[in-house]
Amino acid sequence: MSHDQEGMNKVCPCGSNKPFDYCCRPIVEGQKAAPTAEALMRSRYTAFALGAIDYLIDTTAPEKRGADDADILADQVKYTNWVGLTILSTENGGRSEETGTVEFEAGFETDDQAGTLYEKSNFRKENGFWLYVDGEVEVRT
Ligand SMILES: [Zn+2]
Repeated sequence: MSHDQEGMNKVCPCGSNKPFDYCCRPIVEGQKAAPTAEALMRSRYTAFALGAIDYLIDTTAPEKRGADDADILADQVKYTNWVGLTILSTENGGRSEETGTVEFEAGFETDDQAGTLYEKSNFRKENGFWLYVDGEVEVRT
């Protein structure tokens, strides 16, 4: 990704209504650490939307990473179109906290179905970086 006019004007995929360059882009590109659990969650949604697989793996808690993650994620980003994120609630996960929970809904489309992924995700901070640990997931189509 290059810094171009389009990037400056593009609205961030995470639904914040902020320009991409001032929202998830510096986080996904590793120039800035996500300050809160919600910011990390938003940046991971954006990474799913853009296919930034390395970022998704890097922001998963080490004990939750699997040997096949890169392949699984590659298939997911190839066949799934993410069409919108809504943050429903957050618990803790603030700048000075070490753990947090974010509840959200993400709309998606594949070739043969459209639906909503609902998830209550758990995050924890390690060495100043928020990591996705796990979550309760429900897919509604
Ligand atoms: Zn964003």
